[in-house]
Amino acid sequence: MENLIEISGLIRKCTNCELSLTRTNAVPGEGSFQSKIMLIGEAPGHHEDKSGTPFVGAAGKLLSKLLDSIDLSRSDVFITNIVKCRPPNNRDPLPNEINHCSPYLTKQIELIKPTLIITLGRHSLSYFVPNIPIGKAHGTLITKKGYTIYPTYHPAAALRQTRFYEILQKEFQQIPNLIKTLEKQSDKLGTTDN
Ligand code: URA
Repeated sequence: MENLIEISGLIRKCTNCELSLTRTNAVPGEGSFQSKIMLIGEAPGHHEDKSGTPFVGAAGKLLSKLLDSIDLSRSDVFITNIVKCRPPNNRDPLPNEINHCSPYLTKQIELIKPTLIITLGRHSLSYFVPNIPIGKAHGTLITKKGYTIYPTYHPAAALRQTRFYEILQKEFQQIPNLIKTLEKQSDKLGTTDN
């Protein structure tokens, strides 16, 4: 897995778990390979499975609107999921499905080297940081294996409850400043190292 295009090709042909038997299309992810921001959801749903593109249903439209509110378009960020194929009837992905799929995400992160990983929803958060409730972690920064993770609620939750929408809106507003601060910190580290 040398580059992101090759990884997408491998994901589209992947038969490593049973989700490959029921999917229409695998959904590798899309956006800028140079992005400072990676947004990571749980797994493709019905519309994503049909189109092969992440976050294109109602939750995806809300995600685009949130990005737009901070002057970002989908092509400025990289959007993907923990699991790249739709679980039947949108059930939660099983641990073995997550395990089979995780080398793809690991490699995507390694190649993109995002300044900020935004986890969307509790499943994505628990992939990176198990045993921390999203109600406690959302809107905070967590450092894990050299990456900075910014957990937020899933846009689908915001479609169900205005309270989550308001929180998501506020937390997205913080993103530009978070990026600036993290970049300053890494510049400083760079200077000290030299
Ligand atoms: N929900 C997700 O977690 N991912 C998608 O791609 C779509 C909906």
